[in-house]
Amino acid sequence: MIPANSFEEYTWQLDKRVGSFPESKELYEQLYAMARQPENAKSIIVCTQRYNIYKIPDDLGALFGKMYLFEPRGPYSQDHPSRVAFEAYLKTLGLNLLPCYIPNRLAAAKAGLGKFGRNNFIYDSRHGSYVWIDAWVVDRELVYDAIEEELSLPACNDGCNKCVEACPTKAMTGEFSMDRGRCVAHLGWNAKDLPDEETRAQMGLWMYGCDACQDACPLNQDKFTATDDLPLLAEYEKYLTLERLLEMDEDTYIEHIQPRFWFIGKDGLWLWKCNALRSMINSGESKYHGLIKQFCGHEDSWVREMAQWGCRMLGLSV
Ligand code: SF4
Ligand code: SF4
Repeated sequence: MIPANSFEEYTWQLDKRVGSFPESKELYEQLYAMARQPENAKSIIVCTQRYNIYKIPDDLGALFGKMYLFEPRGPYSQDHPSRVAFEAYLKTLGLNLLPCYIPNRLAAAKAGLGKFGRNNFIYDSRHGSYVWIDAWVVDRELVYDAIEEELSLPACNDGCNKCVEACPTKAMTGEFSMDRGRCVAHLGWNAKDLPDEETRAQMGLWMYGCDACQDACPLNQDKFTATDDLPLLAEYEKYLTLERLLEMDEDTYIEHIQPRFWFIGKDGLWLWKCNALRSMINSGESKYHGLIKQFCGHEDSWVREMAQWGCRMLGLSV
């Protein structure tokens, strides 16, 4: 538990990012509001929960950031009921939960739940960076945990640069730096159009999220223990193949995919199809060639363009 209104550093960091990556300024401007809480905000309660225990099938782990297969915010997650129960418990204590977003990673560091790695993720000693962070802003003063005095002291090994080297699009240019506009996670779910051709190729197989800068990290070595089945995965795993996503109709998308992977909106099936095509193209697997050619005539212009790019890349005649 930490006091509210303690995120001045977040604003400084955003200023720094805007200075380093002016072409992504618009994407950072949306985040400034997170440094400010409502006037009646008094305290922030922060929790972390490990997701490193879940078995993620290799084919899914190559396409999806592991965190997004687990995340407990939506009602489709096994862990969602415990989140709801916790909120109900806080209310029984007479706390009002205020509707606002805050920088969860910084809140976790300030609450002593972990330390930043140079890749901007929070690490705890038992689970590495494979922890989910939740935070609630409340209107009552509480008994606070000690605030880390030196937040900028990283959890990292001296001289390590593996996360930067692993970043496929070079979004990460150095320690505590990352161009949001070039990050695969952003490009995969927040795109308004197609990335340039060079970036498409760099994005590799990733469909939704990217774990490259975490998976390459020595601090995460042996931390993904994968001892338990990922709850409820069996209900929707069959929809997550590249072929199913590419050929998916709107009704199936709205019923099975969008509620679980809600960073892409209800009107975003075109983006899933483009991502599936890009992943097929970058895989180099010939089993996808027929589908890539078929989608060169698709009614959506972005889907068409992606498929046509694939045909050019792979030397396929249309
Ligand atoms: S999530 Fe992927 S693209 Fe984004 S910074 Fe990390 S490695 Fe780079
Ligand atoms: S890869 Fe190295 S530099 Fe990057 S977060 Fe991990 S320990 Fe730190």
